[in-house]
Amino acid sequence: MKKKTCESCLMPLSKDTGVGESDKYCSFCFRDGKLVYEGNDVNEFKKRAHEGMIKKGMNPLLAKFYTWMIGFAPRWNNKHE
Ligand SMILES: [Zn+2]
Repeated sequence: MKKKTCESCLMPLSKDTGVGESDKYCSFCFRDGKLVYEGNDVNEFKKRAHEGMIKKGMNPLLAKFYTWMIGFAPRWNNKHE
């Protein structure tokens, strides 16, 4: 069984409540035909994602955990080398 997750933030695409425009990215990362954050700084991306989660009212501990998970997403894999 293979679960599809966003390649940018690892959110399970089945949990994506927005319009899934891409089969690689969630609606938070990919909108209007392009990546919302086009840079390649994972820390900057994490900061934005974290702020977004807090704004949505997510539990701060969960938000911290999901933000940490972002570092393992395929999009940022080359940053670990
Ligand atoms: Zn995403």
